[in-house]
Amino acid sequence: MNEKLLSELKGYQIVGGHSAVKTCLWLKKSLKDEGVCYKQKFYGISSHRCLQMTPALMCNQSCIYCWRPLELLKGFSGWNEPEFIVEESIKAQHRLLSGFHGTAGVNRKKLEEAYKPNQVAISLIGEPTLYPQLPELIEEYKRRGFTTFLVTNGTNPDMLEKVSPTQLYISLTAFDEESHIMLNRPPRSNWERILRSLDVMRNSDSRTVIRLTLIRGYNMDEKAVRSYAKLIERAEPDFIEAKAYMYLGYSRLRLRYENMPEHADIVEFASKLSRETGYDVVNESEPSRVVLLRG
Ligand code: SF4
Repeated sequence: MNEKLLSELKGYQIVGGHSAVKTCLWLKKSLKDEGVCYKQKFYGISSHRCLQMTPALMCNQSCIYCWRPLELLKGFSGWNEPEFIVEESIKAQHRLLSGFHGTAGVNRKKLEEAYKPNQVAISLIGEPTLYPQLPELIEEYKRRGFTTFLVTNGTNPDMLEKVSPTQLYISLTAFDEESHIMLNRPPRSNWERILRSLDVMRNSDSRTVIRLTLIRGYNMDEKAVRSYAKLIERAEPDFIEAKAYMYLGYSRLRLRYENMPEHADIVEFASKLSRETGYDVVNESEPSRVVLLRG
């Protein structure tokens, strides 16, 4: 692991040679009874028992809206076994939680429960499908009683055919090949692979979600709505999350504050998408600027 990466990844616990864990903002808020993640509201998981991790501190794209330090995600020496990653990620979560014992306002009962995580969000940073033993990793978390949420950029359909998480997300920002090249900045186009992943999603046994990361000025106009509707028709996800790009981290080097939509913009976009797809708007979370649609 390179030194610069370690110093840049503040608040992360590095696990083995290529994985990491980080407690998310909503876990912290939930421990203090100050609110919960929209996924608790939408899907019933417990924010304070969610372990957020990645098995791949690396990515095959270079998205303009990525808040991670992309420039640093390079190099590692050999893959770790799934059992090791699961065990060590739970220990890493415990180390992160130990810092909350002295924090004022923490709900003690929730803190105790948090030491027994029962939900894993495989989505923290990088592209998880690059880890070759991802199916075994998911099964190992399940064996330990976890529900598993996998978030992918959709560039690895062959891997998606092999995994069975509780909930499978494909995160889309591009709505056609041209916007893919501009927004995801891949070394070469992944668009055909992304389309194949949408086909895999249609036949998946998992609960399926297409998450649209919406950036004002880039992917929110009428053409984008119509094009997303076609992709949704192809993938037939159970849910769509229309979510605002957040002006955070390293993305601020590439985008402007004005590119971050207001919640009202997302509500308006979701209602247009609803008309175009026939999906119903069923929930929303203003703090996270996200609207949920169900088919
Ligand atoms: S696919 Fe995800 S992790 Fe990779 S560059 Fe894009 S936003 Fe970042």
